[in-house]
Amino acid sequence: MQRIKKDDLVEVISGNEKGERGEVEEIILAWYIDRRTKKRLGRDKNRDFVRVSGLNVRKKHKKKSSANTQGEIVEIRAPIHVSNVMLVCSDCNEATRVGFREVDGKKIRFCKLCNENID
Ligand SMILES: [Zn+2]
Repeated sequence: MQRIKKDDLVEVISGNEKGERGEVEEIILAWYIDRRTKKRLGRDKNRDFVRVSGLNVRKKHKKKSSANTQGEIVEIRAPIHVSNVMLVCSDCNEATRVGFREVDGKKIRFCKLCNENID
């Protein structure tokens, strides 16, 4: 079960964008991969990243080329490590830790601050 999902509102909790909020556009899941066989051995949750709208934007300078005579600056959203963001609860509007509980046989997330269900 993922702590953070696509379209969640998250808040950055460290770095120079601390306190900034944005929507999760993409979750980049990390896997343990067997070096020899290149097979996935299982999820590596400690290396997951998220791409968040409007956050962690890096400017990349493209060099002049024959196709692109001006050269240009391209903005890319660099992925943020999951441990650097926290879910924002839609009920209490605070960045919160997420708990899990079962309701009607379904595992759902809840806000550890106000105890409201998130999913
Ligand atoms: Zn809450």
